[in-house]
Amino acid sequence: MNILDTTHDQFVDAFRRRYGKGSHISTPVYRRVMKTGKTAFHDLASFAGLAGLAGQLEADLVLSMGRLVKRVSDGKAIKFVTRLADDLDIESVVIPMFRRHTLCVSSQVGCRMGCRFCRTGKMGLLRNLTAAEIVGQVYIARHQLGIDIRNVVFMGMGEPLDNLDNVIQAIRVMADQRGMDIARRYITVSSVGLTAGIDRLARLDGTPVNLAVSLNAPNDDIRSRLMPVNRIIPMAVLQASLLRYPLAKKSALFMGYVLVEGINDRREHAKALARYLAPMTVKLNLIAYNPAPGSEWRPPSADVYERFHAWLVAEKVFVRRRGEKGGRIMAACGQLGGKNTSFDG
Ligand code: SF4
Repeated sequence: MNILDTTHDQFVDAFRRRYGKGSHISTPVYRRVMKTGKTAFHDLASFAGLAGLAGQLEADLVLSMGRLVKRVSDGKAIKFVTRLADDLDIESVVIPMFRRHTLCVSSQVGCRMGCRFCRTGKMGLLRNLTAAEIVGQVYIARHQLGIDIRNVVFMGMGEPLDNLDNVIQAIRVMADQRGMDIARRYITVSSVGLTAGIDRLARLDGTPVNLAVSLNAPNDDIRSRLMPVNRIIPMAVLQASLLRYPLAKKSALFMGYVLVEGINDRREHAKALARYLAPMTVKLNLIAYNPAPGSEWRPPSADVYERFHAWLVAEKVFVRRRGEKGGRIMAACGQLGGKNTSFDG
């Protein structure tokens, strides 16, 4: 009986079908596993006189999330690797942010979007993660690493909107107040901009999660060079979808702009970017390109970065510098997967 891919109500139903017992038994089980990580139940008051059932449940319950095989830290963020049942590895990153720790989760092994600045893209797509494997990253961070995770961002390996059914189920499980209880306003899905998925996410249970889009370019020519998806979904189509996306009160769309020297760093690029963003409520994360070995591009110099940042400020774009403390990861998908983080171990 798997638990990490079920909401409370789904678990209660499955429990009733399997064991013939109601929520007075199954709800405490769900709360214990999802809130504390413990998978022993003999001491639960609701199991008084039901030792046989407690033992049976302990034997039946599976977490199906893979196992923690590696953890590395750069002194700020912590990256950990989970080995899945089929021996594929996925990465997740814990980013300390004031009192709230953020977990950056993967949604696929590899990715088929092929963004040119991203190592995960070079892997191609190996497979989608199940909902349990996505939720399992939160479970591992909280209950095996002992970190109080309050925010989740889908900015790890993979394009979450390319695995939307499982990502939606994972969001429902993470957000369930009777379990992990991560409020939807603290969950962010990052995408290259798959508009069908964005539109579906916009209607999710009437409560939107935050949306981040990896934009990276001021126009279609440059974006299509960097991100093949743009040849199918051009920026105008993406913008129309983003304008339909419901924002929570006082919230904004998050956008990532990876600055690549000589590619998307000119004055006219800043102006065109500002024009594109103007109709939307956007917080833009400006990320210095972090090249992989053998990359054809180099990172922008500090001067180029600061100059571009200043141009955006002058154009009245709400722009934040991203580059430290996992900030690169926070800013755009593709900044984590493969070995693209700054602290690979
Ligand atoms: S940047 Fe994101 S969507 Fe693009 S290839 Fe990398 S993981 Fe996939």
